[in-house]
Amino acid sequence: MFDAVLNFLAHGVVHASWVGLLVYVLVVTQLTIFTVTLYLHRCQTHRGVDLHAIPSHFFRFWGWLTTGMVTKEWVAVHRKHHAKVETEEDPHSPQIHGIKKVFWDGVSLYREATLNPDDMEKYGRGTPDDWIERHVYGRRPYWGISLMLIVNVALFGVIGAAIWAVQMAWIPFWAAGFVNGLGHWWGYRNFESSDTATNLVPWGFWIGGEELHNNHHAFPSSAKFALRKWEFDIGWVAIRMLQSVGLAKVLRVAPTLDVRPNVHLPDADTLKAVLTHRFQAMTDFYRGVIVPTLREEATHAGDNLKAVPRRLRRAMADGGRWLDSEGSARLQAVLAKRPTLKTVCEFRTRLAALMEQRGAEQSLKGLQQWIREAEESGIRVLQDFAVRLKGYKLASA
Ligand SMILES: [Zn+2]
Ligand SMILES: [Zn+2]
Repeated sequence: MFDAVLNFLAHGVVHASWVGLLVYVLVVTQLTIFTVTLYLHRCQTHRGVDLHAIPSHFFRFWGWLTTGMVTKEWVAVHRKHHAKVETEEDPHSPQIHGIKKVFWDGVSLYREATLNPDDMEKYGRGTPDDWIERHVYGRRPYWGISLMLIVNVALFGVIGAAIWAVQMAWIPFWAAGFVNGLGHWWGYRNFESSDTATNLVPWGFWIGGEELHNNHHAFPSSAKFALRKWEFDIGWVAIRMLQSVGLAKVLRVAPTLDVRPNVHLPDADTLKAVLTHRFQAMTDFYRGVIVPTLREEATHAGDNLKAVPRRLRRAMADGGRWLDSEGSARLQAVLAKRPTLKTVCEFRTRLAALMEQRGAEQSLKGLQQWIREAEESGIRVLQDFAVRLKGYKLASA
């Protein structure tokens, strides 16, 4: 009898090998990542994809079993993050709470955010409210993860508890810490979006595509996160596979940009494309106008690009929104010595303001005026940019 108990504790009922255990961990954690990215994020929060009842019910069950997170709460916290990004009200902005706090303790920030019933109501609209949600998933979130612990121990013995601990840490680490923290802190940016969101790596297959966080903030309702040729979004692969067997329907993907040659006067099509792709336009402006101007002025001054600190170059890319007063003063001092750079930065500020403006007619006039002045500026890179911007058009799907 004693031997049987010892044997059970050591091996569980399946007597899995180390390889078997490893495969199990990889499969269950990956399923949890898919639950978050496909179901909670792309389907429930942003409605970029519609999932059939079979995967929906599976993901709801799996989320309950392996994370204890409640759909309505997750959706509400995340929608609020998009709505209030990088402000005092953003539930987990590293700009506000500090990177250490978000990276290591994102879970507390998440829990705290779920305690506001008004927010849960306002931002959590449209999430499941059926019998099983009201009585089981929403009401007994801890039952699922407790059941998971029992299943793991039964299958594998005491090592099952360690596996369970890994499962419990997976989302807090990779989603709350890694994506929410580093995804607003470190990495590359395809789009000068009005937040600090970054793409962490072009292919982080174990985080479901969520690593492409800058792309996501630029086009939040797009079901597809990879937007450059070299980027890979495993969540999108899963969506396409589900779609091919009728279990998913893609509702929205990010529009693509066309640049027409020889456009004389910017028209309504141009305006629409410029507004849709405003973050792309700002990236084009930085790479095509500001960087070459910086380089040229550095050559004149006999130094190199690095003479202007990275932080200030970043500020020229994003409009200096994240600089403190000391940083702003330093930026002004740099610009005072470089008149052409100062002029192009002023053009950037005006273009950014145009994109925030309401009213199509007003905006079109403003855009035409901006382009005319850019073309008359005598600054070649700015003129080239104006020509390119005039050609912006939404590519037909
Ligand atoms: Zn974000
Ligand atoms: Zn989102």
